[in-house]
Amino acid sequence: MLSKDLAICIRAVDYSETSQIITFFTRATGKISAIAKGSKRPKSAFDGPVEIFSHGEIVFSDSTREKLATLTEFEQQPGLSHLSNNLFALNCCLFGTELLNNLTNEYDPHPELFDSFLQFLQDANERRASSIEHRNVLALLILFQLALLKEVGLQPVLNACVNCKTRYEHRASLVRRSFGEGGSIEHRVYFSSSANGLICRDCENSFPDKIRLTKDAADCLTNLKLIAESNEKTLSEIEKILVYHFTEILHHPPKMAKYIIRDS
Ligand SMILES: [Zn+2]
Repeated sequence: MLSKDLAICIRAVDYSETSQIITFFTRATGKISAIAKGSKRPKSAFDGPVEIFSHGEIVFSDSTREKLATLTEFEQQPGLSHLSNNLFALNCCLFGTELLNNLTNEYDPHPELFDSFLQFLQDANERRASSIEHRNVLALLILFQLALLKEVGLQPVLNACVNCKTRYEHRASLVRRSFGEGGSIEHRVYFSSSANGLICRDCENSFPDKIRLTKDAADCLTNLKLIAESNEKTLSEIEKILVYHFTEILHHPPKMAKYIIRDS
C-alpha cells in the first residue's frame, strides 16, 4: 500500500553506494524508517540525496510495519540553506531533532508536533549569526522543547507547585504582602525533574533533585509569553534546567546538549 505524507528527514545514513536509510518524521504517520533506493545517484527520484532537515511530500510503501518502508517519491521543498552559516542555530536544530527522535515512537502520529517542529526549523533558519539572534534562537529552542514535552504527554506543571498545588502567582503575591510593597521579597521556587514541575519553598525538602530558579526564570516558565523578551542569561538558565530534565527523562545526557549550553 502506498501512503502519501508530509515529512521531515530527521536522520539519514548511507546504506550502500547508491542508497540511504532515512528516518522521517511525518505529519500523519509519525516517525518512519524508509529505504531510499538509488537516492545517491545523480538522477534520483528524490531530487538528489536526502539530508537531515530535507522536507516535503513523500510517497512510501509500508505494507509491513515490521520492515523498512520503501520511499518511492520525495518532492523536496527548498532547504534550510541559512543554517550552514549559523552554527548555533544549526546545533539548536540538531538538538531539537535528537530530542524529537528520542521521545517519539514509530507509527505514532503527532500532527501538531510536526507543525511545531517544521516551524521551529524554519524560524531558526531565518536567524542570522549574531549575539542578539543567538538569544532569539535559544528562545525558539526552549519553546520547541516545551511543545515537544506537551505533545508526548510529559508536559511539566509550571503554573503551581506540583506537590501542594499552590499557584505560582498566588504565592508571589502572598510573599509580597507579608513583606510590603518594595520590601525585600524572598523568592524561592524550584524545579524538580522527578516531580515534573515547579516546587514551592514549603515542599522543597521532599524533593532532593530540585534546582532553585531565579525569579526571572520562574516568571518565564509560568508565563511562556515572557520567553520572547527575556535576556540571554535567563534563557540560558532555563535551557540548563531543560537539559537536566531531558537527561533525567532519557536516562542519559542528550548528545547535542554540550553544544547549546555555554558554561559561564
Ligand atoms: Zn508546595
